[in-house]
Amino acid sequence: MPTHPAAVKCAMTSKACIFAEQAAPRYTSYPTAPHFSSAVGPVAYAGWLAELPADASLSLYLHVPFCAQLCHYCGCHTKIVRRREPVATYAKLLAREIDLLGEHAGGHRVHSMHWGGGTPSVLGPELLGELAGRIAATFNCAVIAEHAIELDPRHVDGPLVQALAAMGVNRASLGVQEFSPRVQKAIGRIQPFGQVAQTVMLLREAGIVDLNFDLMYGLPHQSEEDLTRTIFLAHTLAPNRIALFGYAHVPWFKTHQRLIDESALANAAQRLALAETARQTLLSLGYVPIGLDHFAQPGDSLAKAAASGTLRRNFQGYTTDSADALLGLGASAIGRLPGGFAQNSPDLAGYTRAIESGRFATAKGIALTADDRLRGDIIERLMCDFSADATELNGDAFAQTCDTLAPLVAESIVKIEGRHITVTKSGRSFVRLVAAAFDAYLARGKARHSVAV
Ligand code: SF4
Repeated sequence: MPTHPAAVKCAMTSKACIFAEQAAPRYTSYPTAPHFSSAVGPVAYAGWLAELPADASLSLYLHVPFCAQLCHYCGCHTKIVRRREPVATYAKLLAREIDLLGEHAGGHRVHSMHWGGGTPSVLGPELLGELAGRIAATFNCAVIAEHAIELDPRHVDGPLVQALAAMGVNRASLGVQEFSPRVQKAIGRIQPFGQVAQTVMLLREAGIVDLNFDLMYGLPHQSEEDLTRTIFLAHTLAPNRIALFGYAHVPWFKTHQRLIDESALANAAQRLALAETARQTLLSLGYVPIGLDHFAQPGDSLAKAAASGTLRRNFQGYTTDSADALLGLGASAIGRLPGGFAQNSPDLAGYTRAIESGRFATAKGIALTADDRLRGDIIERLMCDFSADATELNGDAFAQTCDTLAPLVAESIVKIEGRHITVTKSGRSFVRLVAAAFDAYLARGKARHSVAV
């Protein structure tokens, strides 16, 4: 794998450990965000919106880049806010962006909506309701299949939940991470089990019954016992889905992660063991594995999509979202249109300037080529199904990919049969490395990624 940082030997005898130390993107998109450029701006974005067929369905993502406290492990685009004024100002900007989108793509049917952050609930019940109302007045929101929000259980109360239910929110994703008090202290996020249980109760009472918990492995001081206990405790609250993420330690990119004691982090072998312990525990509790890092109850729509080969990958991870285009609203939000990817200015000042002057805040992106689409499809199927057909890739490109995959074939991580690529059951933790072999940008790029497991 030519572009991965030097592998580091660890206590494991298997070469699997060396692969686990290699870095690879998470492939929530292809091409990945580090390869976006300023060649795509507001004019290109407006052009792509204009090209949308009249019957194109939309998925909307609204990003709220504020939190009340900073978690040391955070990898999101967010900043700490203690006053109300910046939040209210930001809500006005979102409203103007909705109006702007309405001028270019108003009336399109909305298939799904997702509020992410940051902590979107910092907007509060009133502003959330106003923005949802504005969206309903701008687009066709008669039948929204999924209306989801990310919630921090430390900041959920009855009035908020009532407002969410009134807006039509039908799915909530709770940041849980880990219940061990020692780990919570090390990551700067104190959140007792009772607080999460109370949030779950409020949501269910209000009719918001589809729940996801985000859990994490590889956190400082986290033992296999801690993680197992966390999973058992989470299971008592019966979330429909669990997303199990490996902590990505990228202090060169997210400087506040320097607050985390590196000496308390798991090494490659320990990360593999933590991931496997968590996986086995979740399977023993009846969850169905979905792609790389999600688990769902057997009747959940994600489990059904995985079984039928219709699972998709987007910036939130795995999804059933089948909308024709994704529009990202808010600072740093990324949209995906048939023409390509477009990302709003990640910095709040740039976003504010653009929206206040009445233009889109698109700061970068990438226009998709036929090769991007082909490789993107292969990578998405690998990430979702652990197998993909590479028949349409040209002969030279396929031969080159096979060369890159040879070390993984030798370790029985992947099988190549004709033009069909299959990640073996035991090799699934390394699917990001297999996907990376199809990434034509990786060899040219300078972006540093988190380790693959
Ligand atoms: S609540 Fe979430 S987005 Fe906010 S700082 Fe913590 S991890 Fe980051």
